[in-house]
Amino acid sequence: MRVRLLQGLCLLLLATLPWLPGVPAFWITQMNYIGLYSLVVLGLVLLTGVGGMTSFGQSAFVGLGAYTTAWLTTAAQLSPWLGLLAGLLLTCLVAYGLGVITLRLSGHYLPLCTLAWCLALYYLYGNLDFLGRYDGIAGIPPITLGPWSLGASESMYLLIWLVLLLALWATRNLLDSRAGRAIRALRSGSMAESFGVDLAHYKVVVFVYAALLGGVSGWLYAHMQRAVSPSPFGLGYGIEYLFMAVVGGSGSVWGAVAGAATVLIVKDQLQNVLPTLVGSGVNLELLAFGVLMILVLQYARDGVWPLIARAGGWLGLRARPAAAQAPWYAQAAELPRRPLPAVGERVLDVDRARKEFGGLVAVNDISFQLCAGEIMGLIGPNGAGKSTTFNLISGVLPLSAGQVRFMGERIDGRSAHDIARRGLVRSFQHVQLLPDMSVLDNVALGAHLRSRAGVAAAALRLDRASEAALLREAARQIERVGLADVMEQPAGSLPLGRQRVVEIARALCGDPILLLLDEPAAGLRYQEKQALAAVLDQLRREGMSLLLVEHDMDFVMNLTDHLLVMDFGTQLAEGVPADIQANPAVLEAYLGGLDDDWEVPVAAPTGAPGAAIAPVAATPVVPGVATRLGEGS
Ligand code: ADP
Ligand code: MG
Repeated sequence: MRVRLLQGLCLLLLATLPWLPGVPAFWITQMNYIGLYSLVVLGLVLLTGVGGMTSFGQSAFVGLGAYTTAWLTTAAQLSPWLGLLAGLLLTCLVAYGLGVITLRLSGHYLPLCTLAWCLALYYLYGNLDFLGRYDGIAGIPPITLGPWSLGASESMYLLIWLVLLLALWATRNLLDSRAGRAIRALRSGSMAESFGVDLAHYKVVVFVYAALLGGVSGWLYAHMQRAVSPSPFGLGYGIEYLFMAVVGGSGSVWGAVAGAATVLIVKDQLQNVLPTLVGSGVNLELLAFGVLMILVLQYARDGVWPLIARAGGWLGLRARPAAAQAPWYAQAAELPRRPLPAVGERVLDVDRARKEFGGLVAVNDISFQLCAGEIMGLIGPNGAGKSTTFNLISGVLPLSAGQVRFMGERIDGRSAHDIARRGLVRSFQHVQLLPDMSVLDNVALGAHLRSRAGVAAAALRLDRASEAALLREAARQIERVGLADVMEQPAGSLPLGRQRVVEIARALCGDPILLLLDEPAAGLRYQEKQALAAVLDQLRREGMSLLLVEHDMDFVMNLTDHLLVMDFGTQLAEGVPADIQANPAVLEAYLGGLDDDWEVPVAAPTGAPGAAIAPVAATPVVPGVATRLGEGS
């Protein structure tokens, strides 16, 4: 209630600021600049802060928006609104082109590249005759809205802040959606590809979105200044925008406003205050500004917005979550499920799969088949090539030779997101969650392919029905694996064992036909392992197929129908658990590695599947306690 009241008051203040008595005209100009800068910085919060792509070149897009409208409204005498449309179209085209070419670059190459095209566009603006070269274009008309002209500073103020608030609203909506989860996963490398997220696509989308915000800012700037010249679109400003994003903080869209306001106000105050302190002869502004900013970054590493938010929290201005209420998505429709193949039908067929890393043959002509409704185990010591086999099947790594068929179709050579789309979903040996995102959102990422809600729908909040269905499905899978109590917590705050279980829930959200689990039970307590085994058993009974790598022999022997043993990349044995336990070659390999991390399961001579395995090690083992065959590599 208090929060709503305060928000209302802030809005009222913002809307009436220019007409309040005693407000200097200079403030309004300053607010206009803060608004214009914030728009560009908002794009950077999304692009760099959330998506992890550093750009020094946003000022070039501001220039595109500004110059397009400047030329169209002067030379061609068109309406500023057409100028906006054309500017956005041109920005979109240029950004798309640049994005497709440069966003493949990784590491430092992308930021370097943004420097390059920022400079290139700057010199282009400065050298084209029809853009007035370095003198630019003057005499730009004001924006008109029906009979009203928005030439006055106050009316531009209203327009700029209206546009900014809309952009903040849309960006927040975007981050809180299916597309938003995909964008937040951009930093995590290839993980999200395994859930059908087309990372290259989302990179370009974010890049174009950020560029469009720059373009809008440029349009507003041109009609506010009524003149443009190349200098505000140069590299210096590109760096300043990025700097504002860092100072403001990228954890929230409000960081953009906080960053723009902080930098502009501090700069301005330094210009006022310093000359009175040290005299006007010495120009210490830049130095003092630099020192201040180093201090800000030293003491507020995540930017100033988190500090402001925390102060708000101390003052009791935090929106409290409604207690014990059903979540908003509880009533959503259930997502359609894909039909599972009949039990016994062949699901996976791996035919002489091979992977070489330089001279090392990590997977050496492995062949096996897996049928619907079956749990198959892949076991072997560290470095045997199990995880690599998973990577080959799920499309994370290309095969050196051999074939993989899934549901009768070849999938080797296909992309990870294409394979995920077909119903082959996996978890990772090294947990790959987005630690700052809630468990619910992490799991919902797994259902990415089960909705088609796009970026525009998300930004305009038209995706709620489909978003609710995704979240409901995620919540269902979280409950299924027994993590309902931590649904809203950041995934990174859970112990590692439970993070693995989050990964399983995320994989289940993809509605798999075949589920690949890489060491799902590692790090779990005994009861947790039993609960997990019960869940996996239930999945099998529902007709899902599972392939798991696991070191816990009790777990594997009790659960699987069928085992494949690998050692040094080769296939050592294959069969039902009882035969594997009695297989001399397996025993030999296991015994051979006894000195390091192989604790050895010795077969009971007539061991039925699921019989507890007595370890060779002299230490007595409490029956039922897992015998570990070594930590995961
Ligand atoms: P496992 O999962 O059975 O413990 P891995 O499949 O992770 O084994 O590794 C098999 C072998 O391949 C190891 O010797 C490992 O060092 C090597 N290997 C795995 N991934 C790579 C890679 N990306 N580049 C080079 N070597 C790799
Ligand atoms: Mg492994």
